Amino acid sequence: MMIYLDNAATTKPSEAAFMLAKEYVTEKFYNPSALYKEGFAVQGELKKARSALLSKIADETAFELIFTSCGTESNNQAIFSFARRGNAVTTMGEHSAVLSPFAELKNKGLAEARYSPLKKDGSVDVEKLLALVDDKTTFVSVMHVNNEIGAINDINAIAKKVKQKNPRVIFHSDGVQAYGKIPVRLAKEVDLYSISAHKIGGLKGVGALIKRKTLVIAPYLIGGGQENGKRSGTENTFGIKQFEYAAQVKFADLSKDSERLKSYREKVWNGLDHDVYVRLSPENGTPYILTVSAVGLRGAVLQQMANDKGLIIGTGSACSSNAKTRFSRVVLACGYDEKTADGVLRISFSPETTEEEIEKAIEILNEIGRDLKRRMS
Ligand code: PLP
Repeated sequence: MMIYLDNAATTKPSEAAFMLAKEYVTEKFYNPSALYKEGFAVQGELKKARSALLSKIADETAFELIFTSCGTESNNQAIFSFARRGNAVTTMGEHSAVLSPFAELKNKGLAEARYSPLKKDGSVDVEKLLALVDDKTTFVSVMHVNNEIGAINDINAIAKKVKQKNPRVIFHSDGVQAYGKIPVRLAKEVDLYSISAHKIGGLKGVGALIKRKTLVIAPYLIGGGQENGKRSGTENTFGIKQFEYAAQVKFADLSKDSERLKSYREKVWNGLDHDVYVRLSPENGTPYILTVSAVGLRGAVLQQMANDKGLIIGTGSACSSNAKTRFSRVVLACGYDEKTADGVLRISFSPETTEEEIEKAIEILNEIGRDLKRRMS
């Protein structure tokens, strides 16, 4: 049986969640836009899911939620709707689902793209970010939880400071690694927030963009006018209902899970051989991620060795495995050298992770780390 500790890449849906999705595939399969009672019933179910997902983190009178196909789509929708003139500011720690659209802003001549540096712990350097914001800034995007290191940005406080400097800025946050894991209520200064189902026990192919009601987006997809004309395409009803279910479970257990996973994170770190591994994740980061580096060794090789021994872990972001450089971009941005960036291993947990799995993972990581180090010296 494999030990799966790459939950920041994706999570395994529970059996109960899967059965719920099945109900919407095999029985309640009707088109939610159809004008007969079965269709209305599914439309009503979508409405409930929308409200349940939104109300967990935002005031429903001020915000609305648009279903999308994934976190990537939500980020793209947000960026290409609002970063259209002047300059747009983001951080060097963002996921490629923000960085690539920012590169496109520049390539297409839509807006100047500015990047704020990170601090050593992976969080954004707020003073330097603010220094990039001026009266020509139209859009600022700061991720909530960094997917490679696990650092948490206080997005409410940052949004407030950004708006003090330029009240016309539209503030977006990529909340894909935070939703259902880190407690938050969106402050009135946050305009847009991206979430994704498959990071919290939901299915792949469902995400959402939470947005301030008063903002008018430029829809990416136009057609049948679903989602109030903001995102056309027949809704993924089974995925959305299953997202709702997964979120109910995650939010109900949020603080209990956080405490337990924090203790696992620390147990893994304390159990690792510190002659092989250095810690990159900050103690005040997400309990769900422990990122270490086997400095001088290759993370990708250790990942394969772990895989052969029955342990699945990550090396930085799974989504950047096609990247041109093998070094973790984010780790370099934190100020670490290439040797450290090359040795990165990301161990990420889920509420299903057990203590036995943690103990076995420590054993495997120490064994392979010592083995490779011996062979390399
Ligand atoms: N943003 C962050 C911080 C992520 O970690 C990920 C997934 O790895 C994404 C965006 C992309 O989400 P999705 O896979 O739903 O497109």
